[in-house]
Amino acid sequence: TACGWRPTWEPGFAALGPAFVRPVQPIPLPAPYWVATSAPAAQLLGLPEGWDRCPELLAAFSGNALLPGSQPVATVYSGHQFGVWAGQLGDGRALLLGQVCGQELQLKGSGRTPFSRMGDGRAVLRSSIREFLCSEAMHALGIPTTRALCITGSPAAVAREELETAAVVTRLAPSFVRFGHFEHFGARGQIDELRALADHVIAHHYPQCAAAGSSERAPYAALLQAVTERTARLLAHWQAIGFCHGVMNTDNMSILGLTIDYGPFQFLDAYDPGHICNHSDTYGRYAFDQQPAVAWWNLRRLAQALLPLIDDVPLAEEALSGYEARLNEAYLALMRAKLGLAKPHEAEAELLQELLALLAADRVDYPIFWRRLSHAVGSGDFGPVQALFADGPAVQAWLASYRAALQPQDAAQTASRMLRCNPKFVLRNHLAEQAIRAAKLSDFREVQTLQALLARPFNEHPGHEAHAGFPPEWAAHLCISCSS
Ligand code: AMP
Ligand code: MG
Ligand code: MG
Repeated sequence: TACGWRPTWEPGFAALGPAFVRPVQPIPLPAPYWVATSAPAAQLLGLPEGWDRCPELLAAFSGNALLPGSQPVATVYSGHQFGVWAGQLGDGRALLLGQVCGQELQLKGSGRTPFSRMGDGRAVLRSSIREFLCSEAMHALGIPTTRALCITGSPAAVAREELETAAVVTRLAPSFVRFGHFEHFGARGQIDELRALADHVIAHHYPQCAAAGSSERAPYAALLQAVTERTARLLAHWQAIGFCHGVMNTDNMSILGLTIDYGPFQFLDAYDPGHICNHSDTYGRYAFDQQPAVAWWNLRRLAQALLPLIDDVPLAEEALSGYEARLNEAYLALMRAKLGLAKPHEAEAELLQELLALLAADRVDYPIFWRRLSHAVGSGDFGPVQALFADGPAVQAWLASYRAALQPQDAAQTASRMLRCNPKFVLRNHLAEQAIRAAKLSDFREVQTLQALLARPFNEHPGHEAHAGFPPEWAAHLCISCSS
């Protein structure tokens, strides 16, 4: 390529063979253009300076040309969607270009594959911007996630509720294997393939499990336990930051415990535990406060799929059994840090429960509350915090207990630690929407502005107060569905 990049492909998932992958060619898009690029993601691949102006890479990342040596494939998986077995799904619009620097490189939206079913294999600019910005934002927040390298766009029309234009997200992860990959072979009784998949995941991503125990089945139980722990940690992060995934189907659960498949996700504005962010989720299966229980349900589907390898129900149960304790422990640690408590405090659980009840009662803006609390601890002026609540006496009583719990700590130090856990900038729906509206008119500056703010979400970024404020009235009527 003109920029001098020659990817060195590593044997990866595709080497598992034809039971797991099908060769696929990306389908070209007319007149491709760059929408956004991520320098930190590019570093993971060792891309040289100038990659984001390289015409060959624009062609490659829009699916119009193959990178030298790339043999793209689509992978097969199945899954439970909204609690119901859906059978075979698979990469319907994603394709795996290969593995570079330990990262699987995927195009999303590059056209039909053998797993597209009724779909067109495309992604629209709107949802591609949401995925790109959110992946990189989650990473900057310290939350495990797949990454996004770039978005390329095209004037090609794509039909959703209305006509939109096509885009391709190039995304990265050490592995895109989902629970659904295991369910696929488990459900079909393809035990050899199931074992090959588990062995691949263990060898590449959970090497410590290979040495577990003395029996043949011990590594698979260890794998289930390790995935359970990663998933618990991921859910703790989501609940602490106020992230609603929106489509926690088992095919959207990463075997590495990464946030994957950014669709109708939402960061909470007002704290509403029952918030449903996905317009298509009629019964609230994936409501914010249901997420930990759904992850548990999904882990049980994974366990069921792995059972032929573990071959011992009590052993599988034991591998799963740490979920709740892990989740609670990790969640409490994150919330303790948000509260600024330097070490465990006897009253912390009660303080937190009372606080969440107050936030819910008054539908207090979740990110703003935490940011204001952090500043208040530093300045000693809790007025801006109290102003967020309708119930003055209740919040005053809570603040009194809270400040007593903080007591021996240095205020300035505590505040500066809190400001590093409580972001000023999160990708609220209305911010994404503003960037999308401009991008549809070929103005990508707001995408870039958001990208820069979200890459350092704990910094003050003077002059960007509007990006850190309450959602505007119109945002309450935004409707985000699965359609993407
Ligand atoms: P999701 O709800 O995004 O997790 O997608 C569920 C399944 O539908 C996956 O197998 C996707 O690959 C597939 N899918 C989603 N959108 C499309 C599309 N536009 N074309 C083809 N397949 C799609
Ligand atoms: Mg998906
Ligand atoms: Mg999706």
